[in-house]
Amino acid sequence: MEKTITVLPGDGIGPEVTEAAVKVLQTIAKRYNHIFNLQYALIGGAAIDACENPLPEETVELCTQSDAVLLGAVGGPKWDQNPSHLRPEKGLLAIRKQLGLFANIRPIKAIPALLDASPLKKEIAQEVDLVIVRELTGGLYFAEPRKKTNDYALDSLVYTREEIERIVDTAFLLARSRRGKLASVDKANVLDTSKLWRQIVEEKKVGYPDVEVEHMLVDSTAMKLITKPSAFDVIVTENMFGDILSDEASVITGSLGMLPSSSTRGDGFGLYEPIHGSAPDIAGKNIANPAAAILSVAMMLRDAFQMETEASAIEGAVFSVLNDGHFTSDLQTKGKPALSTTEWTAKVLEELD
Ligand code: ATP
Ligand code: MG
Repeated sequence: MEKTITVLPGDGIGPEVTEAAVKVLQTIAKRYNHIFNLQYALIGGAAIDACENPLPEETVELCTQSDAVLLGAVGGPKWDQNPSHLRPEKGLLAIRKQLGLFANIRPIKAIPALLDASPLKKEIAQEVDLVIVRELTGGLYFAEPRKKTNDYALDSLVYTREEIERIVDTAFLLARSRRGKLASVDKANVLDTSKLWRQIVEEKKVGYPDVEVEHMLVDSTAMKLITKPSAFDVIVTENMFGDILSDEASVITGSLGMLPSSSTRGDGFGLYEPIHGSAPDIAGKNIANPAAAILSVAMMLRDAFQMETEASAIEGAVFSVLNDGHFTSDLQTKGKPALSTTEWTAKVLEELD
């Protein structure tokens, strides 16, 4: 297959982990006879430095013309004092909005070699295999009106039927491709947006008779994620609830450096990125864990290009390197010295070859 991928390395450790992910892509292309055309573009702080714009028009254009986007991370202290239109994060919010990426997908699955790093008991952590589907472009973070004075502030929580329907459909389809269980998370005992959300899930479920649906309140979901996470298959929820729950869930598997994610719009096109940030404290030292970026490539191959064999090969290689006891410094406890980003990546590439 021939695919065009826009690569946005971004800031901090972004370029380092992206370079590792690109090497994995190139190895896969060679081994499975694919052509991946890579086109690099600027976003975030790097783009602000180059052209005073966190999301240059050219970047949007390249993304639009490609089959998928691979992103490193954006942001850092260098731009913290900038006025709000010159903040790196603006670039990320804007690209999601401009590409219409309304669904954020975060798989959270136990990694056998890392169970000791989980804050949960081993017996609980090892069972975890869930995906959070978070609505990404609506709700409290985007709706108008908003206002702030010294004595009064206002945010609005707004959802339209169309916004809810498309995210709910995305989650139903994903649940169908997995264990067929969907937890729809809301606060329907208090919020009208949640009542509409629940009503639409009820309407939609008629079309997915093979999926078992449960409505849950966000507060009890937060508890259950820690006490019985294995009860979940797919969780679907609105923007702010999803923001909070997905960060809560991300600590279950042990390290931020391991988790991939995608932002999609229901047609296969998506932006794939590690869930971690730009980690300015370790940037430029060649010690960042590139696993999340590499696993984001696996997610891209599976979800955007239907390359299941290739995706599984990457995941297998990553887990096998970990099983052999090779870790970057974020995962290192005792024993062997930690590997650098490039050394650890080389192990994965060897495994793939
Ligand atoms: P952002 O605001 O961009 O989401 P953040 O404040 O949440 O960033 P991160 O940049 O994700 O923070 O980093 C949080 C901590 O985790 C830092 O100490 C960082 O060094 C560490 N960390 C994050 N990603 C990795 C990685 N891939 N490898 C090693 N350590 C990491
Ligand atoms: Mg963060």
